Amino acid sequence: MDKITIVVPCYNEQEVIDMFYPEVQKEVEKIPDCEFNYIFVNDGSRDNTLEKLRKISAEHENANYLSLSRNFGKESAMMAGIDYADGDAIIIMDADLQHPPEKIAEMIKFWREGFDDVCAKRVDRAGETWLKRTCTNIFYGIMKKFSTSYEMQRDVGDFRLLDRRCIEALKIMRENQRFTKGLFTWVGYKKKEIPFEVQPRAAGQTTWNYVALFNLALKGMTSFTTAPLHLMTFFGLTISFGAIVYMIFVMLMALIYGDPVAGYPTLMSVMLFLGGTQLLALGIIGEYLSQIFHETKHRPIYLVDEMNGEKMIYVPQFVPTERNTKVKKF
Ligand code: UDP
Ligand code: MG
Repeated sequence: MDKITIVVPCYNEQEVIDMFYPEVQKEVEKIPDCEFNYIFVNDGSRDNTLEKLRKISAEHENANYLSLSRNFGKESAMMAGIDYADGDAIIIMDADLQHPPEKIAEMIKFWREGFDDVCAKRVDRAGETWLKRTCTNIFYGIMKKFSTSYEMQRDVGDFRLLDRRCIEALKIMRENQRFTKGLFTWVGYKKKEIPFEVQPRAAGQTTWNYVALFNLALKGMTSFTTAPLHLMTFFGLTISFGAIVYMIFVMLMALIYGDPVAGYPTLMSVMLFLGGTQLLALGIIGEYLSQIFHETKHRPIYLVDEMNGEKMIYVPQFVPTERNTKVKKF
């Protein structure tokens, strides 16, 4: 009998959360030789999500919940679920039923064949706006070009099955600025991609917008490649070289023709160009600095306020002891 934990990050999902459990349970009951339990992670919702989760876990033996002390963001909420999961494998799913539960059976099939990380790859980017698709393409393009040691998986999100080996590896990586998608890739092990179509949200509202996506992309880049820094060095060198050549040209013009070369427009464009480039370089350095700033504080990734009806106290550093890995009712 295999034991699988389904991890569900939830933020303001009161409209959809009641639908989630029965929908998923209906599918997983069909899978032979498998025992399922759930960890719902309430990521500081401001609506009635927590009350609903309390009710779900009271009604169903295999449903558990963690409630974080505030909103930490999806990446941290997922980590909380991963830390507390006790299955032989876990499946991460969104609460809004955008991830079709029918895929779980297929994931488990491949896991049993020996794959450690079975991830769902979306095949329907065509439905997205032109702008979003272009931005996505640029992001993956940059990541592919610059992260040489491993390749970021394309169009693959958090909907995936992870073997215990991957889970333990993820648990070691306590970085604060989490770009989980990159971490999954970093971990390695045997991966399998299965196609799926993202469903429309069953109810409620998405919390993502362009600014959030841009920030996520920036976080992804700055936590997985230092290529932009090298690029700026290269850029600086090229411009300096160009400047020397131009200087010689201007000097020669002045010496030979006594022509001091038309001033204002050239000066202005060179100054603005250089000013812009310098600010850009500073900005890039700043991004890395902010990563270092956040990481050096070594703050925990999340704090658990409540778990299955009990108030929790923070245990410094996640040590996999009975006390903080074992979830009641399993
Ligand atoms: N989520 C979360 N914390 C947040 C934002 C989102 O736990 O701060 C959860 C949310 O409840 C959902 C999942 O992350 O289960 C994906 O969020 P959403 O559906 O808003 O994103 P989208 O599917 O539009 O990318
Ligand atoms: Mg969603």
